[in-house]
Amino acid sequence: MVTGQNFIGYDRSAQGDQTYQTFNPILNIENPEVFYEATSEEIDRAVNKANQAFLVYRNISGARKAEFLKAIADEIMALDDTLVKMYCKETGLPEGRAKGERGRTVFQLQTFAQLLEEGSWVDATIDTAIPEREPIPKPDLRKMRVPLGPVVVFGASNFPLAYSTAGGDTASALAAGCPVIVKSHPMHAGTGELVATAISSAAQKTGMPDGVFSNLNSAGIEVGVKLVRHPEVKAIGFTGSIAGGRALFDEAAKRSEPIPVFAEMGSINPVVILPDALKTQKDKWAKAYAQSITLGSGQFCTNPGLLLGIKSQDLSEFVNDLAEEIVHIEPTCMLHPNIIGAYEKKKGLMKQESNLNIIMEYPDDVAVNYARQAITTVDGNTFIQNPSLHQEIFGPFSMIVQCENSEQLAKILGELEGQLTGTIISYEDEIKDYSQVVESLGDRVGRIIFNGVPTGVEVAPAMLHGGPYPASTDSRFTAVGRHAIERWVRPFSYQNWPDELLPDELKNSNPLNITRLVNGEPTNQKL
Ligand code: NAP
Repeated sequence: MVTGQNFIGYDRSAQGDQTYQTFNPILNIENPEVFYEATSEEIDRAVNKANQAFLVYRNISGARKAEFLKAIADEIMALDDTLVKMYCKETGLPEGRAKGERGRTVFQLQTFAQLLEEGSWVDATIDTAIPEREPIPKPDLRKMRVPLGPVVVFGASNFPLAYSTAGGDTASALAAGCPVIVKSHPMHAGTGELVATAISSAAQKTGMPDGVFSNLNSAGIEVGVKLVRHPEVKAIGFTGSIAGGRALFDEAAKRSEPIPVFAEMGSINPVVILPDALKTQKDKWAKAYAQSITLGSGQFCTNPGLLLGIKSQDLSEFVNDLAEEIVHIEPTCMLHPNIIGAYEKKKGLMKQESNLNIIMEYPDDVAVNYARQAITTVDGNTFIQNPSLHQEIFGPFSMIVQCENSEQLAKILGELEGQLTGTIISYEDEIKDYSQVVESLGDRVGRIIFNGVPTGVEVAPAMLHGGPYPASTDSRFTAVGRHAIERWVRPFSYQNWPDELLPDELKNSNPLNITRLVNGEPTNQKL
């Protein structure tokens, strides 16, 4: 079923002579499927087709686009075990995780379909004319969101479904009315191709224009860079490392017409444990954090890589409890030899940093590609002085910073790079005395959590998955939840435009029955 070909709209193409294979990290062997790196000509064809498709697709009604998104969800489910097996053999992740992520992917598509069916997301705003206004008449103005054009999506290695081919970026961009070209992730190219088949089939069944979706294979950076430089590409969605996201952001800024890059990147997700909570609940939180740090081999963008507390006997005991819990967790397989290679290398370099104490590193031998979890401690002054201690180590690694006092804790938080999440473990009474700590943390993160773990990102309208740079390249937007659609649109205004020539969303009769802001009042009435 997997051919290794590129999907150029509805055509399949394998013109290049460079090929690559994915890897089964559990068996430690290459998978048999062979993928053909996209050529420059194939890239051009995919983008040109997307541009042509855009002219049609942007005018297709929300209801029909919703049919398309729901059909993608159905086609993904119809892939059934074929998809689950491919996912597992390309990632080493268990079947339960594959099914969970598939459910999340399908839910995201269905959520955007509902948003389109309801229709008010276009934010239609109408200010009617006042011709008799003095000294000059007021014009009739009508504004709504319109799609940007072809979007290129780069997925991350650690979410082959929910943040990849038909993940949140693709679902939200298609919902917005933008054709999508996916730069397939080389570590799960087979999973990507199966999902591409589902999208392509859904597009044909629901009558979408050829070019509304393409999937290009690539195991290097050239294809991605060419796509970002292509003049007909109008926006980029990226999930992955800070180095990758920043490189593509810089490429996009260098274009003669710069375009937005919405990059969701790595994060160390600071967790602050306040003294009273430590005093009374250290066992509970040691257990919870041992699980959270090692969940999925630590391969989550919301993995808690940094814990902070104020020096005390309780904090020392918490560290020991955490070590005791975490040493008993069985190591698990990482996604790919490159990922475990980077993990071991970065962990090794970190271990050489002065004044860093290695409290626990899983002591026994492990199978090949399995990650040995580790926790370390450092004092607040050392952490402040050494920025290399602040970097993400993608895997089951966490550092506990022992601060001198709450002022130092607030200072450290205030100087951290931008993060996806921040967490406070405390009591409602206690946290009130730490307003400076809470404010410092709030300024550096996209989402703040009270008494929980940062792993687990609910797909919901009020979710904010993003944050100040480098957690994301634009902290005003989210990559998860219905508001993710706002990345792919721009506001567009009509002045004194004839009613019959306006889009349905802005017509006097409000034929779509959507909620609009008319002369400052939300209403779904006709004018
Ligand atoms: P990655 O190495 O950055 O790769 C992501 C994609 O970008 C791949 O398709 C990769 O292609 C491409 N790429 C990377 N560098 C590039 C460059 N300089 N030019 C052009 N293309 C480039 O990330 P990953 O290892 O797949 O994912 C792990 C990282 O993602 C972790 O840091 C994790 O925290 C982060 N992540 C963030 C989120 C979030 O929502 N914030 C979610 C999941 C994961 P090639 O592989 O072909 O080079």
